[in-house]
Amino acid sequence: MTSNQDIKQLAAALHWIGGQQVPGTAERFGEVYNPSKGEVNGRVVLATTEDVNTAVAAAKKAFPAWAATPPLRRARVLFKFLRLMEENLEALATLISQEHGKVHADALGELQRGLEVVEFATGIPQLLKSEMTENVGTEVDSFSLRQPLGVVAGITPFNFPAMVPMWMFPVAIACGNCFVLKPSERVPGASLEIARLLKEAGLPDGVFSVVQGDKVAVDALLDHPDVQAVSFVGSTPIARYIYERGTANGKRVQALGGAKNHMVVMPDADMDQAADALMGAAYGAAGERCMAISVVVPVGETTANTLRAKLVERLARLKVSHSLDHNAEMGPLVTAMHRDKVKGYIDTGVAEGAELVVDGRDFKLAGYENGFFLGGSLFDHVTPTMKIYREEIFGPVLAMSRVADYAAAVKLVNEHEFGNGAAIFTRDGGTARHFTASVQIGMVGVNVPIPVPMAFHSFGGWKASLFGDHHMHGPEGVRFYTRLKTVTQRWPGNSQAGPEFVMPNMK
Ligand code: NAD
Repeated sequence: MTSNQDIKQLAAALHWIGGQQVPGTAERFGEVYNPSKGEVNGRVVLATTEDVNTAVAAAKKAFPAWAATPPLRRARVLFKFLRLMEENLEALATLISQEHGKVHADALGELQRGLEVVEFATGIPQLLKSEMTENVGTEVDSFSLRQPLGVVAGITPFNFPAMVPMWMFPVAIACGNCFVLKPSERVPGASLEIARLLKEAGLPDGVFSVVQGDKVAVDALLDHPDVQAVSFVGSTPIARYIYERGTANGKRVQALGGAKNHMVVMPDADMDQAADALMGAAYGAAGERCMAISVVVPVGETTANTLRAKLVERLARLKVSHSLDHNAEMGPLVTAMHRDKVKGYIDTGVAEGAELVVDGRDFKLAGYENGFFLGGSLFDHVTPTMKIYREEIFGPVLAMSRVADYAAAVKLVNEHEFGNGAAIFTRDGGTARHFTASVQIGMVGVNVPIPVPMAFHSFGGWKASLFGDHHMHGPEGVRFYTRLKTVTQRWPGNSQAGPEFVMPNMK
């Protein structure tokens, strides 16, 4: 293990303010782990309010010129950034795997999904085109504008160090805003690389900043009068807090929270396809995905028994290894604390009376004994009153909740507190159509276990999975990062004669 003395000597990830890395004024540091080895690998500075103020001031200074830059020229910077990111994909994926623990292919996958938002944002000249009506009154025309908000902030979770920031900033800056990112203090590296490549792509200093930190930095952003809008992704209690404090301070807020995603398996589904889909959706990224399937709902006892047997068989083959093993299907969890929390949920499930069919608690990887590993776990006979059903575990633990019929499955999904994603596996179009129409869920999959919308659609859940009115990226992202202005205009001409006392549309 790393000693305190060693940790003090480790290099620290810094802030990115005004187009360069700066240490700021902080005297507090966070520890950054290599989860595969279970060792501290680096440190991160934790910002003071003063550091946040410096970043916001730099963003505010950069805003007028950036907002006045034609959208096409803003898009060109993003095109160049896209190319630079593509050239650096391998290095970025390795960095993400080392800090987060996810396997290499998964790190590449999150970069790809993030870059799709950059691709979407390069279409900003088209996306900002407005509506116009000629002759709303005689020789009076009306048109709408979408203008940037100013300085906007993004606060992101540990589980997607590159993708979640990329859900936000490409659209924000394409719209003409200046963006201050507060990444998760557990994975600070990727955001600094992104900042460096944005600068290399020609982004003016101050348009994109990174403030490393924790609650102190978040609160400073939420209270700063010059921050116009806050995008947040993280756990539900913090999402609710961000929404309440941000909106109380007059800001526009979109705050995406936690999840408990169900997959309903109908008796007519292809059981091998369903079992394969569940393996990736439940255990991929060690279950640390907000769109992971954590509850499978087989309809009928035969479906449940068949599916259970197929899952047990597949779990025995699940390849858990360190994050740089390119053959690994699942890596370690992000920290020892989080691993222990997930383990605690498994203990609770056993105590609550659920049947632990496959127990991943004692998994050890030879040569990586201190790594934060768990094997995949499977519970059966999980009921809605159990804590392991109600709460988000965020680990490689799949719960099976058996129901007698389709109506009971829909009721189960709809009565859960969270409403991020849900899927149904069936061959029946009518059942699928009824499901998509009636579930109280933001993102729905039909024979697709993780229905994450593409960049040109918008991502977001319902109920306790999202606070605010806008989903992320796609058309909703453009609306979130712009303010609508509607102009009514008339030019001196033939129709004007003397003072008018009626509304122009009456003429
Ligand atoms: P988290 O809520 O602990 O942290 C998210 C961010 O909030 C981090 O930047 C963190 O520094 C900050 N933060 C933490 N505690 C805070 C506090 N008390 N006050 C102010 N700021 C605080 O979440 P996490 O553990 O990093 O990420 C996992 C969670 O994120 C899971 O619940 C997962 O479902 C959720 N998530 C949701 C989505 C989605 O799209 N809905 C996507 C990814 C992750």
